[in-house]
Amino acid sequence: MTLMRTLRMESVPVTVNGRAAVTELPVIPADATPALAEGLRRRRVAGTLGRCPCGAVRPAPTAVQDAAAEQGTAHMPFPHKADCPAHDGLLGPELAAWQRKGGARRGAQAR
Ligand SMILES: [Zn+2]
Repeated sequence: MTLMRTLRMESVPVTVNGRAAVTELPVIPADATPALAEGLRRRRVAGTLGRCPCGAVRPAPTAVQDAAAEQGTAHMPFPHKADCPAHDGLLGPELAAWQRKGGARRGAQAR
């Protein structure tokens, strides 16, 4: 049996394409490594501002995403640069390591 921690998420109101919506943003864990913290920080910046320090900008929503945003549930992919700490290729392994480490050291968090 493997105990895995999961990131806490919080709902944050944002404006997408001029409309009010709510997005889920990761809460940065207190014991995150610097790389994990930076990746998550950038995810939060990108999610709220629509722009990441790596230069990526939220793409214009498709008609389907636009309709979803209208209902307040926008899920938009974000094209981070490959060397951005928020890119899946870099953030994914950091997050996986954090989840495993927490499970072995302190047991699973309340869930
Ligand atoms: Zn980025």
